[in-house]
Amino acid sequence: MVIVLKKQISLKWKIGRYLLLFGVFIILVMFIFQIGLLEPMYEQSKINTVKLVSDTIVNALDDDMDDDALEELVFENEVKNDTCIRYFRTEEGHTSDSYDMYYMNGCLLYRMRPEEINENIANALSSQDKTYLGISEANMNMPISENGFRNIIYTRILQDDDKTSIVMVYTGISSVGAALQTLRNQMLYIGIILICGVILLTLLLYKQIAKPLLSINQQAKSLPEGKYDPDPQTNRYREAQELNETLVKAAEDIQKADKAKRDLIANVSHDLRTPLTMISGYGEMMIDLPEEKTDENIKVIIDESKRLTNLVNDLLDLSKMQENKIVLKEEQFDLTELIKDQLRKYDVYQYRDGFVIEEKLPDCVMVRADQKRIEQVLNNFITNAINYSLENKHIIVKETENDGYVTVSIQDFGQGIAKENLADIWDRYYKVDKTHVRASSGSGIGLAIVKEILDLHHAEYGVESEPGKGSTFWFKLPVVK
Ligand code: ADP
Repeated sequence: MVIVLKKQISLKWKIGRYLLLFGVFIILVMFIFQIGLLEPMYEQSKINTVKLVSDTIVNALDDDMDDDALEELVFENEVKNDTCIRYFRTEEGHTSDSYDMYYMNGCLLYRMRPEEINENIANALSSQDKTYLGISEANMNMPISENGFRNIIYTRILQDDDKTSIVMVYTGISSVGAALQTLRNQMLYIGIILICGVILLTLLLYKQIAKPLLSINQQAKSLPEGKYDPDPQTNRYREAQELNETLVKAAEDIQKADKAKRDLIANVSHDLRTPLTMISGYGEMMIDLPEEKTDENIKVIIDESKRLTNLVNDLLDLSKMQENKIVLKEEQFDLTELIKDQLRKYDVYQYRDGFVIEEKLPDCVMVRADQKRIEQVLNNFITNAINYSLENKHIIVKETENDGYVTVSIQDFGQGIAKENLADIWDRYYKVDKTHVRASSGSGIGLAIVKEILDLHHAEYGVESEPGKGSTFWFKLPVVK
């Protein structure tokens, strides 16, 4: 299958693009805050300061704080907030141009003439909330120095029945023009540094992320050429390492499957050739020597043909099962009866070869399964037990009922299977010993078929085995009451 992908861009450009966007975003944010908003934010913070300070003083006046404490409070606020504070108090009946004035120390910033003070006070008085904020010259005659220095003066009036208090808080705003120019220059340098950083970071990330991917990809590409040994390199980050491990594992599996396929061809050809040689050999012999046309020799030909048929059937069966083309024909039947029936087929091994097949079977165990397939499983296990029994020709076939399940086990005391091979014996075409005696299927697919059948039945199955001591193959089915 060919997957048509949209035009793909290299990871390098992708990373670079995102990092660049991020850099531009950072510069933009810095630009907005540092250059665009610096002046208004600075002015606003100064305005907030004068309002806050005026609140403090107005509260103190309202509370009739004594003069010394008031003086101290004013001084403290001037120093702390870089402001200049004046406050006035009038007695009843005074006119606006005859305010009693208390001069405060430390008020160096203040440069206003009495007319200007009166103007601010008049503005505050005429306003709704009795406050007035004067900034620079716009509304009053406050001096603006040439370098952009501006004045802020906040006037607030507190009127009681019998007296009026006025608080004026002054502060200066220095020009931010020079600072802005410096910032602009800085921004340029920051921009250049950021772009260099983006390039460096992109290259670094690319090296870290893409390089391992490219090398893994390169190794994956060489798999079809039969190079099954990818470098199990250790990567610095987990994802690439995992990908590499997956590739190594996949390569191992492919190699295994490839080898198994070659084994199968070798096994199947061997197993096909042997009966074919026998059939043709016996046939020719019977033509050449008419006295050899005995029932026994004809039986050899028939047996060998059956062996061939079985082998071909097994192969067809397995391929059908692996393509999921097999549908189970489930029915209810007596498993004990089926096992006993099958064991009759092996009577010949008892009287001819000296096998002792011991049956430990309860009377009747009803199960629901595909009878023909379970028969296949049983025959496979029993044939294997016979084939791999060596000298000890004792086999035990047992059924045990437990918790609504019946476990069928076929135990032999033969050659057994080494631990490292146990997991593989269920694989297609797998044979522990490639030169074993001819089995009925003989091609190493018997257990692969068993596995497919039992998987289709969702049955549990397994094997316990010890080399030299023998093996017990088992499977489990639910009992139908
Ligand atoms: P085969 O046709 O080679 O017997 P199977 O699929 O039936 O194929 O078995 C796979 C392999 O498992 C066998 O080649 C053998 O090595 C091992 N095996 C199966 N059953 C037994 C057993 N009862 N004792 C020892 N080895 C066994």
